Formats: sequence, C-alpha cells, structure tokens
Amino acid sequence: MDPLRDFGRNDPCWCGAARKYKACHGRHQPPSVPGQPIVHPDDADRVWLSPTTSMTRDALRRPDAGVPLVLPLGRPQSRPVDIDPAVQVLLDAPRYTTQPLPVLGKQRFEVFDHTQHDRDALADGVADIAVAVSQALGELDLRPGGRPTILWNDEVDAARFVGQTLLFADHVCVPDRVFAALIDDRDDDTVREAIAEQRRLRPLIEAGVVVPVPEALGVAAQAGAVDAMTQRDLRRRDLTDWVRSQLIVEGPTAREAMFINAIDDFDSGQMWLLSRRTVVNEQPDGRNAFTADLLGNYDPAHDYDPWKQQNLDKAVGEYLRHANERLIAGKVFAADYLTTSPFRARLLARKGALPDQPIHSAVWADIPILPGADPATVARAAAEDEAVEDLRQKVRNALRGARDLGAGADALTGLGDELAHASRKLQAAVHTERRWKVLVPALAGLGAIALGAAGPAAIVGGVLSVVGGLVPNLADSAARRREAAYLFYLANRTPRLRR
Ligand SMILES: [Zn+2]
Repeated sequence: MDPLRDFGRNDPCWCGAARKYKACHGRHQPPSVPGQPIVHPDDADRVWLSPTTSMTRDALRRPDAGVPLVLPLGRPQSRPVDIDPAVQVLLDAPRYTTQPLPVLGKQRFEVFDHTQHDRDALADGVADIAVAVSQALGELDLRPGGRPTILWNDEVDAARFVGQTLLFADHVCVPDRVFAALIDDRDDDTVREAIAEQRRLRPLIEAGVVVPVPEALGVAAQAGAVDAMTQRDLRRRDLTDWVRSQLIVEGPTAREAMFINAIDDFDSGQMWLLSRRTVVNEQPDGRNAFTADLLGNYDPAHDYDPWKQQNLDKAVGEYLRHANERLIAGKVFAADYLTTSPFRARLLARKGALPDQPIHSAVWADIPILPGADPATVARAAAEDEAVEDLRQKVRNALRGARDLGAGADALTGLGDELAHASRKLQAAVHTERRWKVLVPALAGLGAIALGAAGPAAIVGGVLSVVGGLVPNLADSAARRREAAYLFYLANRTPRLRR
C-alpha cells in the first residue's frame, strides 16, 4: 500500500476492518447535517449532541477551573505544550544507575503486586520505573556496536502493534497508560484497566521486547522543540492548507457541537462546544457578569461561520502539534515513531519534503503481521529464533543507512533485497521448526506501517514501499504483489497535493 496514492473505492480498507474502503474510512459524508433533530432522549449518564453522537455527562465536567478564551486570529494556531507539575518533578529527578529493560519489566510487576491497595505507593513505584525506562532507552542509543531497532506508536492497540512489528523490531515502545492514568489523576477503574492491559503483555514486557514508555515525560523533556517545530510548520502555507483540505467537519450539530476528523486517520477526532455568553449585569467599569450556556440548541438564524473557521484553524494546529509531539517523544526514547494512519504518513512525508525539517525519512512498508498470537508464544519465538534476529539486523542496518547516507536510494533499495533474503530464511525455519508452525495460522496477512525518523542529519525525503516477500504462506494476491515489489523515492516523484 502506498499512502501517498488515493485508495480505490473497492479496495479493502487500510485500517484492517473487513470492509471496502468506500464503506469504511472512505466514507467522507458527515453523519448528520447542521441542526438535524436528535431522536434519542438524554439520560442520567449520556447527552446526545447529534442524531448519531452522544457523550458522557462526566466528559463535560472539567477538573480544572475555568476555560481559557482564545480569540480568533484568522490563521491556524496552536497552544504551547502543557507540562503537568508532577511530570516536571520527574524531569528534574536525579538519575540513577541504568538497569536493563528486562529487569525494569520485572520490577514493574513487582510494583503492581506490592502496591495494589496503596495508590500513593503505586504512583511512586510507577514514576520511578518511568524515569528508569526513559534513561535505559536513551542509553541504548549510545550503545557501542550498533543501535537496536526501537519503534514507538501511541495510536493502535498495544497487542496489535506488537503483532505488526515484532518480526523486525528489537524493542516496541507503547504508551505507559498506567503512568498516564496516575498523572492525570484518573479513577481507580481506569488505573486497574491499564494495569490489566500491561499484565496481558507481561511475557513481552518482562522480556524487554515491549516497553511501556511515559509519553508525557518524553514530550515535556523537549517541549521547547515541539513548540518551535509547530510554529515553523504553522508558517508553511502549503502544509496548513493541505492539513485543512484533509479535514472532515460535522457541525454545528443539533446541540451546537462541532466535530473534526482527518481523512484516513484513526477516529480520535476533535470536538468543540459552542458556548453562548449573555451579559446579565453590565457594569460601567467593564467588569460584566455573564451567563455561559453550553449545549444550546442549533439556531438557524445564528452565523456559525466565524466559530467554524476558528475551530478549523485550531484543528490544523492541533494535528501539526500532535505529529511533532510524537516525533519528538520518539526521539527522547531513541525510538522511531511509527504510524499506521495514511493521513499521518502523508503529513510526515510533506513535512520531510523540505531540507530544513528535522524529519528526514518516512518509510512505508507492507509487513507481515501476527494478529492474535498469544504474548507468551510470541515472546518465546522472538527471543529464540535466529531468522527473526537476522530480519531485525537488516532493518537496523537499513534504518541507520537511511539516516546518514546522502545517497539514500541505495540504502533503501538494499533494504528491500535484504528483507527478501531474510524472509526466505524465515520461511525455511517455519517449515522445519515446531514453534513457528504454532504461529503460522496467526499470520493473517500484511499490515501497513509508516516510520518517521527524526534525527540530526539532513538526508532522505523518501518513501519506501516494500511489498510482500517477507513471510511465507501469504495469500495469492500477496504473491502477485511481490512480483510488483517496488521501491521508490518521493524525491523522484512530482509532489502532488491530494484531494
Ligand atoms: Zn477503515
């Protein structure tokens, strides 16, 4: 799959759902028209915003007092990175001797077991591990004899991410949701669910393969870099116009809400509520009293356009800042940020098209995935198999090459050849070794990923597509695609804005 190409209406959807593109992420009509009446009654827990969307009442309560008022600027805007005071304390914490990742993985579960009923002790233990993990990952980057392949992604389910990347990554970083829940002071159920998620991955975490990372700590460590990169992006009209062209808007809805999603992205869009302010007590000194009404009903006589434009400008800034946070956090953890969303891949490729941008390559590859294989089996196979290690070595070499080779084309072409060779070795292993036979039924197909690498050297503005060839027993269509396997460079293409 080439993320820079339009998807065919009848192609299977990129997101992996068993639907055609036109029936899944290719459906761009908003689910309701402005002001369309709500057909469901509200209840004690949920409020309906449109005929198709509701939200919990809880979500309407903000824990912090007051909401900042931002006046329209008439251009895309972003807000600075927000650093939680608890995160700042951790950033300033003294550094101790580094422990290997498997040791930290085991310590994590000891903390869970010993602090079950004491939230403060749990928070302290998890914070210590978060700092230690950040430090350990940072030091891997400096390891003599070669940097391991470390990938990071915060968009998809951790188990799915591991299934997609285990065959070529030494370490797979996922957001530490226990840390996030404790920092955000979420309720005990949320914390428990996050712990349960990590327990499910326990064999992989204890092997040091899956590494939960404190995302907020990574972003905070480089907040200045995120802000600077975002401000620079916001000054690029080509980039902001392109992001705006990718947004799907629903609203104002029946309840004066507006939703914004990006085409071909995961469904984590953004939402705004229109708040109507009415002066109830006008004072000569200007200190007026207001009432503010959230969740008012759609008013056909009201001009929503300035509000809509302001929110679109903010949405553009949010998408750019979010991409930069992911890239920079990845850099802090010495990991390559990986996205499975074509929207984000296109964004990375566009950002990287200019030489002064700190993202120098976006690698897009169709790779074998192991959906649903149980973590213990995967951990065993990954730890023992020579063919897997071989595959990882190839990727490691190629990623290094893509970073510091001026003639990046050769490095990436070489990666295609090396991966094909490594996959033949893996194929041989699968036919002869029992533990791979256990895994093969789970090899359901190809999944697409994109890598954005942030590094100090200036090089490849490239997109690589390696199609098929990695793993045996794929469907016929994959075999045909292997014949059509190709590598190409963005630099060799005429850049075109899509849609
Ligand atoms: Zn889809």
